[in-house]
Amino acid sequence: MKKPLILVTNDDGIAAPGIRALIEVARELGDVLVIAPDKPQSGQGHAITIKLPLRVHPVDIFEGIDAYECSGTPVDCVKFAKYKLLKGRQIDLCVSGINHGGNAAINILYSGTMSAAMEASIEGINSIGFSLLDYSWEADFSAARVYARSLMEKVLSEGLQECKLLNVNIPRLPLEQIRGALICRQAACDYTEEFIEGTDPHGQKYYWLGGEFIEDGAVEGTDVWALKQGYVSIVPSTHDLTSYRGMETLKHLENLSL
Ligand code: MN
Repeated sequence: MKKPLILVTNDDGIAAPGIRALIEVARELGDVLVIAPDKPQSGQGHAITIKLPLRVHPVDIFEGIDAYECSGTPVDCVKFAKYKLLKGRQIDLCVSGINHGGNAAINILYSGTMSAAMEASIEGINSIGFSLLDYSWEADFSAARVYARSLMEKVLSEGLQECKLLNVNIPRLPLEQIRGALICRQAACDYTEEFIEGTDPHGQKYYWLGGEFIEDGAVEGTDVWALKQGYVSIVPSTHDLTSYRGMETLKHLENLSL
């Protein structure tokens, strides 16, 4: 039987331990192609590179795996894989991550990890973004790997029906303390933004975005809530940002006096 083709990418860069963990899982399940940013690209969301050239180089850092580093964003990586490296060869699954740090709630919009997966889903490819709630470079990915493997196996064999994108977050817990996986909706949690002011060594003022993630919107059934309870959260997601409720309630806006 022909092996499935799995595209692996991330936003923390090709040298991140999280992508290595994901590649180790993917290689057990199919043929693997890796293309990832050559430097950290967290927080780049769905950005693409259009005013600068892209540089793409093969890298020999994952034994026996075709891998490339790209000077662009996570979304650039997915586009390049589909249209240049694979020239139309079908991708059976795209996985992104495993991100160093959570991407629950509003973070799906800012996250390069999720945007890479979303880009593949826009192309009709079943896609999963994985994030571990641990920013550390030395984070323990062992529990995340177990859940990633099981979910990838299931998606490869059963597909994802009309939904093409999953936002998966894994709590920072040992495997035996994780209570299972839950299908969730996105929590209505957001940040309190704070620009920290400082002065650089040349005497110039700078601002550095800090702030805090507020978990007040973590009501039952949301991803943030599930993670707090010790579950892996799975949010079936889409790039369609239409408010279907708004389409019903705002019909009167069509009656403009011109
Ligand atoms: Mn990241």
